[in-house]
Amino acid sequence: MTQLGESTWVLEGPTNIGFFEKDGQVTLIDSGNDKESGRGINKILRDRGWTLKAIVNTHSNADHIGGNDYLQRNLNCPVFAPEGEHSFIENPPLETALLWGGREVKDLRNKFFQARPSRVDRLIRPEEEIVPGLRAVGLPGHFMNMVGLETGDGVLFLADCLFGDRILGKYGIPFIYDVRAYGETIRGVMGREARYYVPSHGPVEEDIIPLARRNLDLVERIGERLLIHGEEEKTFEEMLRLLCDDFRIELNAGQYALVGSTVRSFLSYLNDEGLMDFSFRDNRMLWKRTAKHG
Ligand SMILES: [Zn+2]
Repeated sequence: MTQLGESTWVLEGPTNIGFFEKDGQVTLIDSGNDKESGRGINKILRDRGWTLKAIVNTHSNADHIGGNDYLQRNLNCPVFAPEGEHSFIENPPLETALLWGGREVKDLRNKFFQARPSRVDRLIRPEEEIVPGLRAVGLPGHFMNMVGLETGDGVLFLADCLFGDRILGKYGIPFIYDVRAYGETIRGVMGREARYYVPSHGPVEEDIIPLARRNLDLVERIGERLLIHGEEEKTFEEMLRLLCDDFRIELNAGQYALVGSTVRSFLSYLNDEGLMDFSFRDNRMLWKRTAKHG
């Protein structure tokens, strides 16, 4: 546990977890990967004599809500989540249905993709004050309706709107649902003052600008590579293969679902921008860049 402000702590791990504490009452920011994270959080609360007031989930991905079920079962705490994300938290198979575009292959039926369901007690909206001194910040792009949390003592929890360098290096292409919103969100974060910035996956930063730029550059590079590959007509699968070659990614079922979903979102984005078009031939959907791309 690292203390970042008078009321704010972060438990650094595979998914960073925030603790916002006032008078012994803790509002948790995400609950980690699984039951084990829930157990670890419970131990910290007990050791410090704190009580859990609520869990705020930034979004519904399994690595952010994995401890909900354990904590809700044992401490009967309420879960707060952004409207739109809440359906996924209560019904985790939606998560893999979205990634896969149908009923998932069995390789995705595990805790990395499907958390245990938990009950959402309150819907939160951007700019809403969750508890005194803790405000939601809209960070759309990575998933359906993600929010970050801004504390009165100067800490900005960024959820997955950008990633630390180690994660970017490890996965090559981050998961992105809405490419345009993703870029706008990062640019918005660059203009937000905070003493500390906490990405869910990466170290705490005092200056977010350099890391934000690297994340933005990466988004641009992915788009550029797809446009280059779109010089000749290609199917989605061919686009995916070439992009994986570019970023030295070796796919398995999980990565295929995550990177594949992101590539589809990029193709839709480029289509919206008028830069890429598709046609059907021999029952194949073929993507090609348009004349608008200089
Ligand atoms: Zn995450």
